[in-house]
Amino acid sequence: MTNYETFEYDVLVIGAGGAGLRAAIEASAAGVSVGLVCKSLLGKAHTVMAEGGMAAAMGNVDDRDNWKVHFADTMRGGQYVNNWRMAELHAKEAPERVHELESWGAVFDRTKDGRILQRNFGGHRYPRLAHVGDRTGLELIRTLQDHGIHQGITVHMEYTIVALLKDGARIAGAFGYDRERGRFKLFKAKAVVVASGGAGRSYRITSNSWEGTGDGHSLAYHAGAELLDMEFIQFHPTGMVWPPSVMGILVTEGVRGEGGVLRNKDGQRFMFDDIPDNYKNQTSTDPEEGWRYTQGDKNARRPPELLTRDHVARCINREVKEGRGSPHGGVFLDIAWIKEKISNAPEHIKKKLPSMYHQFMQLANLDITKEPMEVGPTTHYIMGGVRVNGDTQMTNVPGLFAAGECAAGLHGANRLGGNSLSDLLVFGKRAGEFAAKFARENSAGSINDADIEAAATEALAPFERGEAVGGSVEGPYQVQRDLQVMMQDLVGIVRREDEMEQALDGLGRLWKRAGQTVVYGHREYNPGWHTALDLKHLLTCAEAITRCAIDRKESRGGHFREDYPEKSAEAAKANSIVWKAADGTMQLRREPIPEMPEHLKQVIEEMK
Ligand SMILES: Cc1cc2nc3c(=O)[nH]c(=O)nc-3n(C[C@H](O)[C@H](O)[C@H](O)COP(=O)(O)OP(=O)(O)OC[C@H]3O[C@@H](n4cnc5c(N)ncnc54)[C@H](O)[C@@H]3O)c2cc1C
Repeated sequence: MTNYETFEYDVLVIGAGGAGLRAAIEASAAGVSVGLVCKSLLGKAHTVMAEGGMAAAMGNVDDRDNWKVHFADTMRGGQYVNNWRMAELHAKEAPERVHELESWGAVFDRTKDGRILQRNFGGHRYPRLAHVGDRTGLELIRTLQDHGIHQGITVHMEYTIVALLKDGARIAGAFGYDRERGRFKLFKAKAVVVASGGAGRSYRITSNSWEGTGDGHSLAYHAGAELLDMEFIQFHPTGMVWPPSVMGILVTEGVRGEGGVLRNKDGQRFMFDDIPDNYKNQTSTDPEEGWRYTQGDKNARRPPELLTRDHVARCINREVKEGRGSPHGGVFLDIAWIKEKISNAPEHIKKKLPSMYHQFMQLANLDITKEPMEVGPTTHYIMGGVRVNGDTQMTNVPGLFAAGECAAGLHGANRLGGNSLSDLLVFGKRAGEFAAKFARENSAGSINDADIEAAATEALAPFERGEAVGGSVEGPYQVQRDLQVMMQDLVGIVRREDEMEQALDGLGRLWKRAGQTVVYGHREYNPGWHTALDLKHLLTCAEAITRCAIDRKESRGGHFREDYPEKSAEAAKANSIVWKAADGTMQLRREPIPEMPEHLKQVIEEMK
């Protein structure tokens, strides 16, 4: 076997976003050796883009808030297919995790009496999002990074993991390469935490950074882990739609939290026309009351613009489809109108939403303090992911853990805004803690040379094919593009059986083409090679999404079926699970959701 540079750790963490950093800190604090691998530079993970805030029921702005309300909001938002244990732990532990972050140096916005300020967000009954203007992810990453670098964690930046390695059933390490030189690296580890983020890059229009190619979902799946509820994709209602070069970039929900309203081309606030029954008693039908809510009036109900993301995205989709959209295929989001209410509105907007102001000035030459923005849905978040134990975050593969966006369960069919950043902290910590425990209780596994060579051969195959067939073949970019267009068109916001069956056929053809793509040149600085390797992950996620979406014959949260527009009581009782069979095919089953304990049922009843 070739001698690859080899590193040995008790715990290897793949991903340096909020979840990976928090896991690495916790594992290191437990006294085990920790390696942290990430595709980009430390501090550049996708989490850095998070804007609006992290949800934690601290009750600083409204003292009626507590873990029970947060738990009930999360379950209602997720339409009750969530892992209720994760929702309980998250609601209970998020405040402590946010205070801990503060004690490590995070500089949150403040209430007048000096406590952490909390803002309104869709689906949260009370102001709940701890934030730093609209740059909360940056502060979260900065703080964890500052704290983490003093913990003795070894960081491998700009490395890509291409395969997980096992010893029999249990995890034993990972194999990857450094992106600059293209040299292979072997990682031996007693426990591995996958914290690789989302898979939005499977779609054409997305808010996700280039890293969101579903690597962790796919690495875990190919190593024998199960994926849960992959049909649930969140299309965030407000992404930029113009100019084309910036299509999909996120416009934070914070804009609506600060009083921004949605209008169609006729100037109508169309969200008032369609308020779902289960939110009717919490939603205002009067614009004035909605405005008062955004300004902190505890007796007012929230405006319909702050309904859950799945619903708002579908309403926008409807307006556009029925010919009431904006010139570039979106609708209007207006924060400038608040000048009717606030004397220093432009300064107020710039202070509350500094990134949004700059984003639109620089990318669209539009001043949001004066004009409405044009926005439309963008693929934002995947609720589905690696199936984990709610307490420990361990998968069904012993020693393999998952946390953050690549893990599933907490958010059910639809994630509430702000619940991801607190998810990263709560379950990143738990993954680190239990991975360290596993590493202490188990010796290192041994890795088979043949498995290492197989991973290296697979990774180099696009070069080898190039040499074998000469010049008349396909590179990876067209396959990637065709996949993204197909998923957007056929497995998007509104789904139908016949279109998804077409997508499944298309995926068969794309898998074939991906297996024939060629890459030329050297392994150093070769983005074509990186893209060729991403294809396996993108296709694995796309196939899982499509199979689960065909199988769920109802509409729920982020999964809307035109042919089954209602919820089904039967489908509500089960999660979708996919796994890789011995013959390499993707298998699917539906598994009953465990019965919720009485005390949690009562909480939901009380909060209705
Ligand atoms: C624009 C935007 C705004 C958002 N705002 C909010 C918000 O206000 N509140 C909120 O709660 N949520 C928000 N979200 C969602 C939230 O930011 C993400 O869900 C969350 O940051 C994901 O964190 P993570 O730690 O799971 O992964 P990420 O931050 O995506 O990090 C993934 C890490 O894994 C590494 N990685 C991936 N694959 C590999 C591989 N093969 N080998 C090695 N390393 C790998 C990457 O390099 C990276 O370091 C927002 C999302 C977007 C796009």
